[in-house]
Parts: sequence; structure tokens; C-alpha cells
Amino acid sequence: MALIVQKYGGTSIAGPERIKKVARRIIETKKRGNKVVIVVSAPGDTTDKLTETARQITPSPTDREMDMLLATGEQMSIALLAMAIHALGEEAVSLTGGQGGIVTDETFSNAKIRKIDTKKIEKELSKDRIVIVAGFQGITAKKDITTLGRGGSDLTAVALASVLKADQCEVYTDVAGVYTADPRIVPDARKIDRISYDEMLELASLGAQVMVPRSIQVANRFGVDIHVRSSFNDEEGTVITKEVSKMEGVVVSGVAYDKDLVKVAITDVPDRPGIAAKIFGALGAGKVNVDMIIQSSAQGGVNDISFTVNRGDLNKVLDIMGKVKQEIGAKGLVYDEGVAKVSIVGVGMKTHSGVASKMFSALAEEDVNIEMISTSEIKISCVIKEKDTEKAVRAIHRKFALAKTPRKGRK
Ligand code: ASP
Ligand code: MG
Repeated sequence: MALIVQKYGGTSIAGPERIKKVARRIIETKKRGNKVVIVVSAPGDTTDKLTETARQITPSPTDREMDMLLATGEQMSIALLAMAIHALGEEAVSLTGGQGGIVTDETFSNAKIRKIDTKKIEKELSKDRIVIVAGFQGITAKKDITTLGRGGSDLTAVALASVLKADQCEVYTDVAGVYTADPRIVPDARKIDRISYDEMLELASLGAQVMVPRSIQVANRFGVDIHVRSSFNDEEGTVITKEVSKMEGVVVSGVAYDKDLVKVAITDVPDRPGIAAKIFGALGAGKVNVDMIIQSSAQGGVNDISFTVNRGDLNKVLDIMGKVKQEIGAKGLVYDEGVAKVSIVGVGMKTHSGVASKMFSALAEEDVNIEMISTSEIKISCVIKEKDTEKAVRAIHRKFALAKTPRKGRK
């Protein structure tokens, strides 16, 4: 008898009809002779709405009460789903994160799972019940309710699959899987059958929003294969797994883009040791995540340093850099919000040459100017003008023939 963990996202259980549909799918899974543990998110945009309501009461609610509030979204889902399963004549029991044994640290709103005591879940499973656990939440050793950070239900599912040694971890969502590019931009983007954790992490942090990066890191660490698939049909989705040799035929797995960034440049910076440490030390102390960095070669004893940050951090960055600029005696501070980043990701890049030049010529042929470049073992990113994003993504997707070339060894 296999143990299957299934996670259903907010859109899959938005409204009674969808909840009933999910209930039927769960029962089918059980009737195929499996034990099932279900993890659910809050329905639809409940978490956003609850946050908004809190803000209408006070601009600065305490983190503890905020977690108490947000955890109710998932609690609604587990109860309604259990009722739907009962109505179809099957046994099911709903558990909050705390009841499910999920113990976290005390970082409200972004808690880390410390341990999971699976006794209660296992006891319920042994009574032949479907166990439904609230995602995104846990409880501290002092019995305070915590949440795991936005999108945290995925993490709950992966963590439970790991400690329960589940045979499968399925994440049901409103997309059919992971694509070679955003299908809204590239209509012939192809669904990827299997992708490695590393590639998925790059794609996730590059803006392909399928699962939160933290859940993939945890899956990687504990070797949990995740099958991401649609709750609206029975098609196979994408399996996120460790690197397998079958994947080696593919050089580039996907194209991602990110418009949520701004380019900041500090100009006429004195060219001497310690300057970069000052600039990026100050940004680090301000908890600003810096992505790409470029330093021009020095001329006349000065150079320019440009970097990209998330758009939401811009004001903070301008504040910090205003001060640093004075300290180091730089002349200018400029920024450009009209930029975007396009990236290609693929484990095959480790062993193939000419990948970067192919990407650059795809951009050149479309007359897209490259403002910054960065590379890692399995990724190449270019900063371009935001208005060119769609055309750039399409051109790169075409250049690497991602629509047509299926991975070697695919079913
Ligand atoms: N309901 C939470 C959120 O919206 C957790 C999740 O959906 O995974 O972030
Ligand atoms: Mg979600």
C-alpha cells in the first residue's frame, strides 16, 4: 500500500463545486489502494483578503495576531474538504498544522519547521481515514500558532512527504505543470515532463511562479520528488526530481523573465579598495537583496557600479545609497525602472559551449540591446529594456527550438 501526499492550492478549492471535485479525486486515489494525506491552502484569495482586513483595522498588527488570523484561511479549507469527503461516504479527518504535529520556531509570519511529530497523522491513517492537514501553519513549543511565509502550503506538503516517507508527493495547482516559457507569452511553449531541483529553483526565482523556492530547496535536501499537475484534469504534469542522466540530452530547459526589478547605478566612484564592500555592505545591512552587479573599468581614477534590486526595495536603496554616495565621494546616483531580466536555464550548459552566444544572437536578431549579463553554471541572464521582454522571450525560445525538441528519454 502506497502513501500519497497531495497538496491542493487555493484556486483548486475556491468554492463548493471545486471542493467537491477535489473530494472525488481524493477518494479515487484512496480507492486505488493508497493511504492519502492531503494538504490544502486557503481558498482563492482568502489570505490576501484577511491581510487587507487587518490593515483596515491597524497599520501595524502584531505578528502573532497576524499569524492567528491568516491560519484561519487554511482551517476553513480543511473543514470544508473533510465535510465534502464525508458527504461522499468516506472517512476523513481535518487537522490544523499543530494537531498534525508541525512544530516551528517562533518567527511569526516566516516560521521554520523544527520537527514534525507524525504520531497523530499515523494513527488516523491506521484507522483507514483520509488525513487532511492545514498547509502554511504550525505551532511553537509554547503553543503559539505560526505561519510559514506566503505560499507555505507547498512546504508543508513537501515536509510531510519527507517525514512520512511518502511514495509520491503531488502538488495540484491551476497550471498543467512547468513550461519551457510562460505560455501567455509563448503560445507554443511545451510542458516539461521532468526537471531537476536546481533548474526548477532557478526558474522559480526567475519569476516562473509554480512553487515557492523554499519548498524546492527542502524537497532537494530530503530527496522528495514533486509531481506538479493541474487539478482541473487528469493529465500528467511535471516531475521535479534530482538530476538524472536522461536529462543530459537537453542543453536549455526553459526561458524565464522577471519584470520586478530596477537597475541602479552609482557613477564616478573612486577606484580604490573597500568601495564595493562599503556599497554592498550597506545594502546588506538594510536587508536588500542585490542580484546582478557590474563594475565598469576605471578611467581617470573613477568607475561606475551598476546593480539590480527588486522594485519594492527601490526607495530603501535610494535612501541607503544617498548616504553611501557622500561617504565614498561618488558623483551620481541614477536608476531605471524600465528594465527586465530574461534568462535561460539548463543543467546541460555545464557541458556545452556556445550557449551564451546563441542567446545573444537571438536578442541581436530582434534588435534587443543587452544592458547587463550574468551567468552561473546552469543559467545565463540578460538585463534588457522592459518593453522588449515578450519579444526577447519568444526569440530565445525559438532559437533554442524549445517548442519542438522533446527531452531525450521522454515518455
Ligand atoms: N494561503 C497561503 C498564501 O496564500 C499559503 C499558500 O497558499 O500556500 O500564501
Ligand atoms: Mg498558494
